[in-house]
Amino acid sequence: MNRPRGPIAPLCLECGQPAKLVGSQRIYPQRPEYWNRRMWLCDCGAYVGCHDGTERPKGRPCAKPTRDARIAAHAAFDRLWQAKVKRDGCTKKQARASGYKWLAASLGIEPKACHIGEMDKATALRVVQLCKRYHR
Ligand SMILES: [Zn+2]
Repeated sequence: MNRPRGPIAPLCLECGQPAKLVGSQRIYPQRPEYWNRRMWLCDCGAYVGCHDGTERPKGRPCAKPTRDARIAAHAAFDRLWQAKVKRDGCTKKQARASGYKWLAASLGIEPKACHIGEMDKATALRVVQLCKRYHR
């Protein structure tokens, strides 16, 4: 089978179908400042953005409840490693790396597989709970 040219479509977290690459005006018709970006959109309405300046998806397309949970997970996790930078005087890169190592171990998954953008809603909400214990 011939594979179409271009990046490999990420599979939708909600329905399992491959998403399609679209201009972000499809998703943010009111936000022209985002129109230079591309997004992966599934027929079911789930979507995910791309890494800046690329067509590489940031994770798996998902619907709003999962997206909201991932945003909360990022906020909770970022607060943790930012506190470590302040406390230990390490670099942002070091703090994030050790943060992800801790997070992967806490979730019982491989560090390589530990990407908030790939998480389903339940896992993202677990991240929020895990990180909250260390917020002060
Ligand atoms: Zn879908």
